[in-house]
Amino acid sequence: MKISSVTCPHCRAVYEIAESTSAAGAAGRFDCGVCGTPLVAWEEPKLRAFRLDVAPEHKYPRVPTPPCFA
Ligand SMILES: [Zn+2]
Repeated sequence: MKISSVTCPHCRAVYEIAESTSAAGAAGRFDCGVCGTPLVAWEEPKLRAFRLDVAPEHKYPRVPTPPCFA
């Protein structure tokens, strides 16, 4: 299993890519699940799994002021 990651250039969502080094897969492609930008395409018969790692709305979290400091 090979792990890498890809960042969507459009919405900055980060995906973790798990690529099987033993199981055979198929050629395929992956589009950003948030904004639909094509991120990865491959012609080799590979088995790849994609997982949203960091959603763009979580990149810059709004930190609420704790009540004790208000
Ligand atoms: Zn995106």
